[in-house]
This record gives sequence, structure tokens and C-alpha cells, in this order.
Amino acid sequence: MNYHKVSFLASYGLLKQIPPSSKIEIAFAGRSNVGKSSLINKLFNRKGLARVSAVPGKTATINFYDLDDTVHIVDLPGYGYAKVAKTEKVRWAELIEGYLNDESRSMELVVLLVDSRHPATRLDIDMIDYLIETEKPFIIALTKMDKLNKTERQNRLSSIADEIPCGGDITIVPFSAETGEGVEALREIIEEIASY
Ligand code: GDP
Repeated sequence: MNYHKVSFLASYGLLKQIPPSSKIEIAFAGRSNVGKSSLINKLFNRKGLARVSAVPGKTATINFYDLDDTVHIVDLPGYGYAKVAKTEKVRWAELIEGYLNDESRSMELVVLLVDSRHPATRLDIDMIDYLIETEKPFIIALTKMDKLNKTERQNRLSSIADEIPCGGDITIVPFSAETGEGVEALREIIEEIASY
């Protein structure tokens, strides 16, 4: 797979605008400001591909990217940002759930991003419960690992599995957009899915 061959396809603000799947899809989800844009840019070697923002809560669209004519990367809106109107939150939730609930799509994996600096939040756990209940295949990327010192890192890696439902059974990939930790691991997982 050529990770340099990635291109932006389209942004959708409404579910009904999204065309049927034409490729296998891998979706990226997580709370706003978790580091999703940074992870996508790092994974695909493209600085400006996804918009990294100092102001959280801006991405209210589902963005599609094509990876090497093989896989579509689906960037779901970041959820849980407190400072947006309730109607906007409802719209985002509808977009995310509407996409994930659509059984006609060829969605093969959700990469759920969780911030390594804090214990998993209620929203993270709700999302994991939802993914388990609806039997979606998913893994967790633990973001911003470079912000932890050695002791914090060890503590986080040993406690995360206890904080989340079915923690022992879920693949957890420590990730940093700063150091590149986890890039190879995520790429291997994507390659494996693409080669089915
Ligand atoms: P998004 O809202 O989930 O797309 O998050 P962004 O990618 O826009 O990142 C939110 C903030 O966290 C930005 O200030 C980024 O520079 C910072 N950030 C993201 N990933 C990392 C990381 O791996 N390490 C560090 N130190 N900062 C990060």
C-alpha cells in the first residue's frame, strides 16, 4: 500500500449526501481535540490533509479520503465538545450514528481515538459500549503518548484495559503524532483489512 497516495474525496454535512460505499471503509472517531486530524495527517504523511485545529469542535462534517485506490478513510466528526449548541450536538450524533448504523456500507473497522493523558471518559465508554452492542469491529488508538513520562506511560497502559468495557479483548495502539509511535502498527492493521 502506498501511503503517499492519499487524496481528499469529499466532505458531507448531511447523511443523505453520502454516496454508497465504493471501497472498503475505515472510520476514525473520537472526542473533539483528541488528536484525530493529527493522527490522520501523520498516518498518511500529509500535513494539511485533515485540518488540525487549536480550537476544538470545528469538524462538523464527515470527510472521506481515498488511500491508494484501495480503502476509503472516513473521518467522523469529533464529538463531545461542550461549547456548541445542543442542536449542533444532535446533528453530529446523528451523523456519526447514522453512518455507523448503515449496514449497507462496507465499513470494516472503526479506529476509536482516546486521549492518553486522562482516564477514558464517560463519552469514550459510551462509544465503546455502542460499538460492542452493535458488533462493530474496532480498535483503540491511545493518542498524544509523547505527553506522558515513563511512569505515566506505564500506568496508563496498565490501567486503560480496566477502565473500558471488554478492555482485555480490544487491540490498543499507543500513538503519537509527534514521535510517530504507532504509525507502523496502525498501517499494518489497515493493510491487513485491505488485503481481505
Ligand atoms: P482533533 O480535534 O481530534 O482533530 O485534534 P487535532 O489533531 O486538531 O489536535 C488537537 C490538539 O492536540 C492540537 O493542538 C494538536 O497539535 C495537539 N495534538 C494532537 N496530536 C498530538 C500528539 O500526538 N502529541 C502532542 N503533543 N500534541 C498533539
